[in-house]
Amino acid sequence: MKIVPISLPTPFYIGAVNVYLIKEDPVTLIDTGPKTRDAIDALRAGLRTNGLTTGDIRRIVLTHAHEDHCGLARSLRDEAQDAEVFVHGWETGHRAARLEHEENLRLLQRAGVPDDEIQSMRRLYEEVRQYADSLDEDHCRELVDGDELEFDTGALRVVHTPGHTPGSCSFVREADRTVIAGDCVLKRITPNPVIAVDPIDPSRRFRSLAEYLVSLARVRSFAPTLVYGGHGDPVHDFEELFNRYLKLIRERQASVIASIPKGGATAWEVSRAVFPNADDVHSFLAVSEAVAHLDYAHSEGKLALEIGDGREVYRRMPTD
Ligand SMILES: [Zn+2]
Ligand SMILES: [Zn+2]
Repeated sequence: MKIVPISLPTPFYIGAVNVYLIKEDPVTLIDTGPKTRDAIDALRAGLRTNGLTTGDIRRIVLTHAHEDHCGLARSLRDEAQDAEVFVHGWETGHRAARLEHEENLRLLQRAGVPDDEIQSMRRLYEEVRQYADSLDEDHCRELVDGDELEFDTGALRVVHTPGHTPGSCSFVREADRTVIAGDCVLKRITPNPVIAVDPIDPSRRFRSLAEYLVSLARVRSFAPTLVYGGHGDPVHDFEELFNRYLKLIRERQASVIASIPKGGATAWEVSRAVFPNADDVHSFLAVSEAVAHLDYAHSEGKLALEIGDGREVYRRMPTD
Protein backbone atom coordinates (compact mmCIF):
# COMPACT_ATOMS: atom_id res chain seq x y z
CA MET A 1 0.00 0.00 0.00
CA LYS A 2 1.90 3.01 -1.27
CA ILE A 3 1.32 6.49 0.19
CA VAL A 4 2.36 9.20 -2.29
CA PRO A 5 2.40 12.83 -1.10
CA ILE A 6 1.43 15.40 -3.75
CA SER A 7 1.98 19.10 -3.02
CA LEU A 8 -0.58 21.52 -4.48
CA PRO A 9 -0.47 25.32 -4.60
CA THR A 10 -3.10 27.31 -2.68
CA PRO A 11 -3.99 31.02 -2.80
CA PHE A 12 -3.79 31.12 1.00
CA TYR A 13 -1.16 32.55 3.31
CA ILE A 14 -0.21 29.06 4.53
CA GLY A 15 1.18 28.13 1.09
CA ALA A 16 1.06 24.70 -0.51
CA VAL A 17 -1.18 21.93 0.81
CA ASN A 18 -0.29 18.22 0.87
CA VAL A 19 -2.74 15.68 -0.45
CA TYR A 20 -2.01 11.96 -0.30
CA LEU A 21 -2.56 9.44 -3.03
CA ILE A 22 -2.98 5.86 -1.84
CA LYS A 23 -1.79 4.00 -4.88
CA GLU A 24 -3.64 0.79 -4.30
CA ASP A 25 -7.04 -0.65 -5.01
CA PRO A 26 -9.37 1.19 -4.47
CA VAL A 27 -7.37 4.26 -5.57
CA THR A 28 -7.87 6.80 -2.78
CA LEU A 29 -7.08 10.49 -2.43
CA ILE A 30 -6.75 11.91 1.07
CA ASP A 31 -7.66 15.62 0.77
CA THR A 32 -8.05 17.36 -2.56
CA GLY A 33 -6.61 20.88 -2.54
CA PRO A 34 -8.55 24.11 -3.15
CA LYS A 35 -10.78 24.72 -6.15
CA THR A 36 -8.30 26.61 -8.32
CA ARG A 37 -6.98 26.02 -11.81
CA ASP A 38 -3.40 25.77 -10.46
CA ALA A 39 -4.32 23.14 -7.88
CA ILE A 40 -6.24 20.90 -10.29
CA ASP A 41 -3.42 21.16 -12.86
CA ALA A 42 -0.84 20.19 -10.22
CA LEU A 43 -3.04 17.33 -9.04
CA ARG A 44 -3.49 16.00 -12.57
CA ALA A 45 0.29 16.18 -13.10
CA GLY A 46 0.90 14.33 -9.82
CA LEU A 47 -1.56 11.60 -10.75
CA ARG A 48 -0.09 11.32 -14.26
CA THR A 49 3.39 10.75 -12.78
CA ASN A 50 1.84 7.77 -11.03
CA GLY A 51 0.16 6.47 -14.17
CA LEU A 52 -3.30 7.60 -13.04
CA THR A 53 -5.97 10.14 -13.95
CA THR A 54 -8.73 11.73 -11.87
CA GLY A 55 -11.09 9.16 -13.42
CA ASP A 56 -9.25 6.39 -11.55
CA ILE A 57 -10.06 7.81 -8.10
CA ARG A 58 -12.55 5.60 -6.29
CA ARG A 59 -12.45 7.17 -2.84
CA ILE A 60 -11.94 10.75 -1.61
CA VAL A 61 -11.23 11.01 2.10
CA LEU A 62 -11.10 14.38 3.88
CA THR A 63 -8.97 15.04 6.96
CA HIS A 64 -11.23 18.07 7.53
CA ALA A 65 -13.39 20.44 5.56
CA HIS A 66 -11.25 23.57 5.27
CA GLU A 67 -11.20 24.99 1.75
CA ASP A 68 -7.53 24.20 1.08
CA HIS A 69 -8.22 20.52 1.85
CA CYS A 70 -11.73 19.89 0.54
CA GLY A 71 -12.17 22.46 -2.25
CA LEU A 72 -11.99 20.05 -5.18
CA ALA A 73 -13.89 17.19 -3.54
CA ARG A 74 -17.14 17.72 -5.37
CA SER A 75 -15.68 18.27 -8.84
CA LEU A 76 -13.32 15.29 -8.44
CA ARG A 77 -16.19 13.13 -7.30
CA ASP A 78 -18.16 14.17 -10.40
CA GLU A 79 -15.19 13.51 -12.68
CA ALA A 80 -14.47 10.10 -11.18
CA GLN A 81 -18.17 9.20 -11.31
CA ASP A 82 -18.30 6.41 -8.76
CA ALA A 83 -15.95 7.98 -6.24
CA GLU A 84 -17.23 8.20 -2.70
CA VAL A 85 -16.44 11.15 -0.44
CA PHE A 86 -15.75 10.44 3.23
CA VAL A 87 -15.75 13.08 5.98
CA HIS A 88 -16.36 13.01 9.73
CA GLY A 89 -19.89 13.93 10.83
CA TRP A 90 -18.62 16.73 13.06
CA GLU A 91 -17.40 18.66 10.02
CA THR A 92 -20.97 19.66 9.19
CA GLY A 93 -20.46 23.22 10.40
CA HIS A 94 -17.54 23.59 8.05
CA ARG A 95 -19.22 22.12 5.04
CA ALA A 96 -21.78 24.87 4.80
CA ALA A 97 -20.75 28.49 4.91
CA ARG A 98 -19.19 28.79 8.31
CA LEU A 99 -19.59 32.43 9.20
CA GLU A 100 -23.09 32.60 7.81
CA HIS A 101 -24.29 30.40 10.58
CA GLU A 102 -26.03 32.44 13.19
CA GLU A 103 -24.33 30.39 15.86
CA ASN A 104 -20.92 31.37 14.60
CA LEU A 105 -21.89 34.98 14.53
CA ARG A 106 -23.02 34.71 18.09
CA LEU A 107 -19.71 33.09 19.08
CA LEU A 108 -17.82 36.06 17.68
CA GLN A 109 -20.15 38.54 19.39
CA ARG A 110 -19.82 36.70 22.68
CA ALA A 111 -16.04 36.83 22.26
CA GLY A 112 -16.34 40.63 22.18
CA VAL A 113 -15.46 41.06 18.48
CA PRO A 114 -16.76 44.52 17.41
CA ASP A 115 -19.46 44.59 14.73
CA ASP A 116 -17.28 46.20 12.05
CA GLU A 117 -14.63 43.49 12.58
CA ILE A 118 -17.29 40.78 12.32
CA GLN A 119 -18.42 42.32 9.04
CA SER A 120 -14.90 42.35 7.64
CA MET A 121 -14.37 38.73 8.78
CA ARG A 122 -17.53 37.81 6.92
CA ARG A 123 -16.34 39.57 3.77
CA LEU A 124 -13.00 37.76 3.94
CA TYR A 125 -14.79 34.48 4.44
CA GLU A 126 -16.91 35.14 1.35
CA GLU A 127 -13.64 35.32 -0.61
CA VAL A 128 -12.29 32.11 0.94
CA ARG A 129 -15.54 30.28 0.24
CA GLN A 130 -15.10 30.49 -3.51
CA TYR A 131 -12.22 28.00 -3.22
CA ALA A 132 -14.52 25.13 -2.28
CA ASP A 133 -17.74 23.64 -3.57
CA SER A 134 -20.03 22.84 -0.70
CA LEU A 135 -20.72 19.19 0.01
CA ASP A 136 -24.10 18.37 1.42
CA GLU A 137 -25.02 15.37 3.54
CA ASP A 138 -26.05 13.08 0.72
CA HIS A 139 -22.76 13.66 -1.07
CA CYS A 140 -20.78 12.21 1.79
CA ARG A 141 -20.21 9.06 3.75
CA GLU A 142 -19.28 9.42 7.35
CA LEU A 143 -15.85 8.66 8.77
CA VAL A 144 -16.18 6.96 12.14
CA ASP A 145 -13.40 6.68 14.71
CA GLY A 146 -11.94 3.18 14.72
CA ASP A 147 -13.23 2.23 11.27
CA GLU A 148 -10.84 0.83 8.73
CA LEU A 149 -10.41 2.03 5.17
CA GLU A 150 -9.54 -1.22 3.48
CA PHE A 151 -7.25 -1.68 0.51
CA ASP A 152 -6.19 -4.71 -1.50
CA THR A 153 -3.11 -4.91 0.64
CA GLY A 154 -3.39 -3.28 4.03
CA ALA A 155 -5.69 -0.76 5.68
CA LEU A 156 -5.79 2.67 7.22
CA ARG A 157 -7.38 3.09 10.64
CA VAL A 158 -9.58 6.18 11.08
CA VAL A 159 -8.64 8.12 14.21
CA HIS A 160 -10.82 11.08 15.15
CA THR A 161 -8.38 13.84 16.18
CA PRO A 162 -10.52 16.93 16.92
CA GLY A 163 -8.98 20.28 17.81
CA HIS A 164 -8.02 22.16 14.67
CA THR A 165 -11.66 21.54 13.69
CA PRO A 166 -14.25 19.40 15.50
CA GLY A 167 -14.29 16.67 12.84
CA SER A 168 -10.58 16.49 12.01
CA CYS A 169 -9.42 12.91 11.38
CA SER A 170 -6.07 11.19 11.07
CA PHE A 171 -5.34 7.90 9.35
CA VAL A 172 -2.96 5.32 10.75
CA ARG A 173 -1.24 2.51 8.91
CA GLU A 174 -0.60 0.29 11.88
CA ALA A 175 1.82 -2.05 10.08
CA ASP A 176 4.60 0.56 10.13
CA ARG A 177 2.98 3.20 12.40
CA THR A 178 2.69 5.81 9.65
CA VAL A 179 0.13 8.55 10.33
CA ILE A 180 -1.56 10.93 7.89
CA ALA A 181 -2.62 13.71 10.24
CA GLY A 182 -3.95 16.61 8.15
CA ASP A 183 -3.66 19.90 10.06
CA CYS A 184 -3.46 18.13 13.44
CA VAL A 185 0.32 17.85 13.05
CA LEU A 186 2.33 20.45 11.13
CA LYS A 187 6.09 20.50 11.21
CA ARG A 188 6.80 24.23 11.32
CA ILE A 189 3.75 25.80 12.89
CA THR A 190 1.45 24.98 15.77
CA PRO A 191 -1.98 24.29 14.30
CA ASN A 192 -4.64 26.88 15.12
CA PRO A 193 -7.68 25.65 16.96
CA VAL A 194 -10.33 27.48 14.92
CA ILE A 195 -13.37 28.88 16.75
CA ALA A 196 -16.31 26.54 16.16
CA VAL A 197 -19.73 25.62 17.41
CA ASP A 198 -19.86 22.49 19.56
CA PRO A 199 -21.26 19.79 17.23
CA ILE A 200 -23.13 18.13 20.12
CA ASP A 201 -24.59 21.31 21.63
CA PRO A 202 -24.70 24.22 19.14
CA SER A 203 -25.41 26.69 21.94
CA ARG A 204 -21.89 26.06 23.21
CA ARG A 205 -18.43 26.62 21.89
CA PHE A 206 -16.28 23.69 20.90
CA ARG A 207 -13.53 23.17 23.50
CA SER A 208 -10.89 23.13 20.82
CA LEU A 209 -7.67 23.30 22.82
CA ALA A 210 -8.65 20.69 25.42
CA GLU A 211 -9.75 18.40 22.57
CA TYR A 212 -6.57 19.12 20.66
CA LEU A 213 -4.34 18.13 23.58
CA VAL A 214 -6.18 14.80 23.83
CA SER A 215 -5.77 14.29 20.06
CA LEU A 216 -2.03 14.94 20.24
CA ALA A 217 -1.73 12.38 23.05
CA ARG A 218 -3.77 9.97 20.97
CA VAL A 219 -1.44 10.33 17.96
CA ARG A 220 1.49 9.85 20.32
CA SER A 221 -0.03 6.62 21.64
CA PHE A 222 0.58 5.05 18.21
CA ALA A 223 4.33 5.76 18.64
CA PRO A 224 4.41 7.02 15.04
CA THR A 225 7.54 6.55 13.00
CA LEU A 226 6.40 9.00 10.30
CA VAL A 227 3.66 11.63 10.33
CA TYR A 228 2.43 13.24 7.13
CA GLY A 229 0.88 16.67 7.80
CA GLY A 230 -1.43 18.87 5.77
CA HIS A 231 1.32 21.39 5.04
CA GLY A 232 5.12 21.18 4.95
CA ASP A 233 7.52 18.28 5.32
CA PRO A 234 6.69 14.99 7.06
CA VAL A 235 7.62 14.62 10.72
CA HIS A 236 10.07 11.85 11.57
CA ASP A 237 10.53 12.68 15.24
CA PHE A 238 7.00 13.04 16.58
CA GLU A 239 8.18 12.93 20.20
CA GLU A 240 10.28 16.05 19.68
CA LEU A 241 7.38 17.84 17.99
CA PHE A 242 4.93 16.74 20.70
CA ASN A 243 7.16 18.21 23.43
CA ARG A 244 7.74 21.38 21.42
CA TYR A 245 3.98 21.83 20.92
CA LEU A 246 3.30 21.34 24.64
CA LYS A 247 5.95 23.90 25.53
CA LEU A 248 4.54 26.43 23.02
CA ILE A 249 1.01 25.87 24.28
CA ARG A 250 2.12 26.37 27.91
CA GLU A 251 3.95 29.57 26.99
CA ARG A 252 0.99 30.89 25.02
CA GLN A 253 -1.29 30.00 27.92
CA ALA A 254 0.89 32.04 30.29
CA SER A 255 0.99 35.07 27.98
CA VAL A 256 -2.78 34.94 27.44
CA ILE A 257 -3.42 34.91 31.19
CA ALA A 258 -0.81 37.63 31.80
CA SER A 259 -2.42 39.91 29.20
CA ILE A 260 -5.69 40.17 31.16
CA PRO A 261 -5.89 43.52 33.00
CA LYS A 262 -7.37 43.91 36.49
CA GLY A 263 -10.81 44.78 35.18
CA GLY A 264 -10.97 41.66 33.00
CA ALA A 265 -11.00 41.33 29.22
CA THR A 266 -12.94 39.77 26.37
CA ALA A 267 -11.31 37.21 24.07
CA TRP A 268 -11.14 39.92 21.41
CA GLU A 269 -9.23 42.26 23.74
CA VAL A 270 -6.86 39.44 24.68
CA SER A 271 -6.26 38.66 21.01
CA ARG A 272 -5.38 42.32 20.32
CA ALA A 273 -2.97 42.34 23.27
CA VAL A 274 -1.27 39.02 22.43
CA PHE A 275 -1.28 39.44 18.63
CA PRO A 276 -1.17 43.24 18.12
CA ASN A 277 -0.18 42.95 14.46
CA ALA A 278 -2.85 40.48 13.38
CA ASP A 279 -4.98 41.82 10.56
CA ASP A 280 -7.22 40.43 7.84
CA VAL A 281 -7.74 36.70 8.22
CA HIS A 282 -5.22 36.68 11.04
CA SER A 283 -7.49 38.67 13.32
CA PHE A 284 -10.01 35.82 13.00
CA LEU A 285 -7.32 33.22 13.72
CA ALA A 286 -6.01 35.35 16.60
CA VAL A 287 -9.41 35.60 18.29
CA SER A 288 -9.88 31.84 17.70
CA GLU A 289 -6.61 31.14 19.45
CA ALA A 290 -7.41 33.51 22.31
CA VAL A 291 -10.80 31.88 22.84
CA ALA A 292 -9.22 28.41 22.80
CA HIS A 293 -6.68 29.37 25.45
CA LEU A 294 -9.16 31.28 27.60
CA ASP A 295 -11.62 28.39 27.57
CA TYR A 296 -8.85 26.02 28.53
CA ALA A 297 -7.59 28.25 31.36
CA HIS A 298 -11.18 28.66 32.57
CA SER A 299 -11.75 24.90 32.56
CA GLU A 300 -8.58 24.49 34.61
CA GLY A 301 -9.87 26.98 37.18
CA LYS A 302 -7.27 29.61 36.33
CA LEU A 303 -9.78 32.23 35.17
CA ALA A 304 -13.26 33.35 36.10
CA LEU A 305 -15.82 34.00 33.39
CA GLU A 306 -18.70 36.48 33.55
CA ILE A 307 -21.28 37.24 30.95
CA GLY A 308 -22.42 40.82 30.75
CA ASP A 309 -24.06 42.62 27.86
CA GLY A 310 -23.91 39.49 25.69
CA ARG A 311 -20.14 39.40 25.92
CA GLU A 312 -17.93 37.11 27.95
CA VAL A 313 -15.39 38.76 30.21
CA TYR A 314 -12.52 36.74 31.67
CA ARG A 315 -10.96 37.73 34.97
CA ARG A 316 -7.95 36.42 36.78
CA MET A 317 -8.72 34.61 39.99
CA PRO A 318 -8.46 36.85 43.09
CA THR A 319 -5.56 34.77 44.47
CA ASP A 320 -3.60 35.23 41.27
ZN1 LIG B 1 -7.26 23.37 8.27
ZN1 LIG C 1 -4.66 23.30 6.06
